[in-house]
Amino acid sequence: MATVLETKTYDLLINGESVKAQSGATMDAINPATNEKIADVASAGIHDADLAVQAARKALDGKWKTMPPARRARVLFKIAALIGERIDDLARIEVLNSGKTIAGAKAEIGQVIEDFEFYGGAVTKLTGDTIPAPPNFFNYTLKEPVGVCAQIVPWNYPLLMASWKVAPALAAGCTIVLKPASPTPITAVLLGQICLEAGCPPGVVNVLPGPGATIGAHLAAHPDVDKVAFTGETSTGRTIMELAAGTIKRLTLELGGKSPNLVFEDADVDAAVAGALHAIYYNAGQSCDARSRILLHERVYEDFMRKFVAKAQALKVGDPLDPATHVGAIISKRQLEKIEGYVGIAAQEGATISCGGTRPDGALASGNFLKPTVIDKVQNSMRVAQEEIFGPVAVVTTFKDEAEALAFANDSIYGLAASVWTRDAGRAQRVASGLKSGGVAINSPISIIPGVPFGGYKQSGFGRELAMQTLDLYTETKGVVMYTGAKPIELFKV
Ligand code: NAD
Repeated sequence: MATVLETKTYDLLINGESVKAQSGATMDAINPATNEKIADVASAGIHDADLAVQAARKALDGKWKTMPPARRARVLFKIAALIGERIDDLARIEVLNSGKTIAGAKAEIGQVIEDFEFYGGAVTKLTGDTIPAPPNFFNYTLKEPVGVCAQIVPWNYPLLMASWKVAPALAAGCTIVLKPASPTPITAVLLGQICLEAGCPPGVVNVLPGPGATIGAHLAAHPDVDKVAFTGETSTGRTIMELAAGTIKRLTLELGGKSPNLVFEDADVDAAVAGALHAIYYNAGQSCDARSRILLHERVYEDFMRKFVAKAQALKVGDPLDPATHVGAIISKRQLEKIEGYVGIAAQEGATISCGGTRPDGALASGNFLKPTVIDKVQNSMRVAQEEIFGPVAVVTTFKDEAEALAFANDSIYGLAASVWTRDAGRAQRVASGLKSGGVAINSPISIIPGVPFGGYKQSGFGRELAMQTLDLYTETKGVVMYTGAKPIELFKV
């Protein structure tokens, strides 16, 4: 695969300075499409993390606090504009470091821009309330920044997940220590530099690439961190909850998923096939909200499967930098082997592999690629229907009626997202209300739009991102009661 590799060095960003780790440690950034090294990245240690938290704490009470909201809004709009100017470079770097397709990276960075614009617009609308009061009282609330936020993000959408956290935190007036996932640190470092260039005072956004088990855990337990916003695996979320409990930190947890895609007998099958294809194979299935369980009414099963399997086989797996590629690389060899392990488990459990399940050969053999895979005849109790595979693998189960469809859909420890395909508006709404998930898409392949809250039920986490209510999670609400009467109130009457 023809990829021009430029080995570069990326440093930590602490207090507005690009610095090496105190220990001098670095880690290799790898291109998942070739398994070649593309850069050296500084790897933070505990001391660096302490310096970053200290810088964020100091910045909280500095110029950032006194900056008028309209000016803070302008900083967010400027971040959006700078990202827009550099979209081609950022997309290329995201592709080289994550293995995602160039078309996907550009679309995601387009959304990163919209996220900063959305929260830029929100800064000047962040208001408290006045509260109906008894006579001689004037009561109101103040919205104040929650404080120093540790933001710990995963590798599947490096820049997008960072923006879902950085943008609302900045809008609320918080300061940030951003910890990218170890495999994909580069665009987070670049985002930190852009924030600085756009006018965030030094220390407002600090970026700390480094190992999750040490740096992430240290930040989650750090007494000077007020909030942890985490996106990643449910098991890591559980650890973070325990670590954060010591100082009762505020928490947002965006965790795993095993989201269902329900196709009813009255659905437009062609639209459902197209939607299902994108919903599982986009980003090589490495999406928390991937609709990895396809639930088909018995009557649409044959038609849907014939079309779906043919289209899955027609998808182009290949060089992520080629604009024609649909399915890029899996993040690492280890992750690829884990996914292949699930294909083996499916066969042992008695399911049928309808297509895929193997690696493409030829030019792609040195990278981490898997052909789009469809696993049919799956019972909802099987491991492949219950556990997050996190790869280009759809599992297919049939149902008899609406009640059984809902029962299967909700029979999961997860509850992140769901899709419903039906022409019956009443059914669409009944099923949307019956689904135990944070989001539902009806007859739509698109479900992530700034302004629409995104987050989980059950073990998919709690807290909502991407919406106005996210700002509540980055602010404390202070209730103020003021007596306005002329005579003092003497409750003890002594
Ligand atoms: P992960 O849990 O392994 O890592 C996520 C982040 O946590 C990384 O930055 C990592 O370095 C850090 N980390 C690891 N151990 C830690 C610890 N002990 N303490 C603190 N931090 C630690 O997840 P991943 O493999 O990077 O990402 C894939 C997972 O993320 C999947 O489960 C996916 O469903 C989930 N995800 C969820 C959403 C959502 O919005 N719900 C979005 C994207 C990804």
